[in-house]
Amino acid sequence: MTDKKGRVFSGARPTGRQHLGNYLGAIKNYVALQDTYECIYCIVDLHALTTMESTHDLRENTREMTLDWLAAGIRPEETIVFVQSNVPEVTELHTILSMVVGLGKLTDLPTFKEKARLQPHNINYGLVGYPVLMAADITLYKAGVVPVGVDQAPHLEFAREVVRSFNHRYEADVLIEPQMKSTEIPKVLGTDGKQKMSKSLDNHIELAATPEGTLERVMTMVTDPQRKLRSDPGNPDVCNVFSMHRIFSKVEEVEMVNIECRRAGIGCVDCKKLFAKNLNAHLEPFRTKRAKLAEDPDHVWGVLEEGAARAKKIAEQTMVEVRSAVGLP
Ligand code: SF4
Repeated sequence: MTDKKGRVFSGARPTGRQHLGNYLGAIKNYVALQDTYECIYCIVDLHALTTMESTHDLRENTREMTLDWLAAGIRPEETIVFVQSNVPEVTELHTILSMVVGLGKLTDLPTFKEKARLQPHNINYGLVGYPVLMAADITLYKAGVVPVGVDQAPHLEFAREVVRSFNHRYEADVLIEPQMKSTEIPKVLGTDGKQKMSKSLDNHIELAATPEGTLERVMTMVTDPQRKLRSDPGNPDVCNVFSMHRIFSKVEEVEMVNIECRRAGIGCVDCKKLFAKNLNAHLEPFRTKRAKLAEDPDHVWGVLEEGAARAKKIAEQTMVEVRSAVGLP
């Protein structure tokens, strides 16, 4: 791992089986980053608690998500994959960092305002402190690089400020100011063609679905709303199915759809069937690998346990330095 450029940290909530939006927006990038960086990928279950009504599915969702990550190409032999709460040092660092953060700053963050708007009945303390916990996640593992999309950029900037405040207040050079690796995260629309793909909106296409299930979901995709009849010419530029063709179909097929749609030479049913066929072909190796990994029910937990042990080693060292800098006896 020594020839790698630096250490990357990224976390994702345990949302269970992953969908195309997760794949194109995060997992694909996670897999690619492994070639250049020493990577730490964390399943942030404590973060999830801030917005969860029920924790009933937490364990199962963690297992399903990890299976998807591994099947998609995350390599636990080199990359640390673990569950946030399995390394409790993060909660201690969170508490310590919370002393150098002003409350007003936290309640001013746009993401807090948005969450408070979405769950006015449950504006809990954890929700306010979420960015501090995120800063603790990054700094505990001394990650120099954090891949973020535009919407997460204020959180990373916040984490950088926290590091500066901590190092200044305790006259130490213990925590590393993480650098932002701006990542272009494509906005993947759901089958409704309007909103971001999301499980909660039930507009998603699961990576691990069967080929038949995938076809069924694809057939529900909303196309060019102006195209009412098979004989109407369509406009691929406003059609989500076409956006997906551009990612999963061959260049000549994309070109064919682009031309034929505009002159009503292809119907939406055939166009969707072609996309579903290409998507299923693309996901076939992933699904085969996933099924193989799932044969051993202990495999995922073994990977997460080993990941937590490796993460803990780094965390313990950081906390020795942090406690000493703060002057804790
Ligand atoms: Fe969309 Fe394809 Fe229908 Fe054109 S033919 S509107 S690209 S689904």
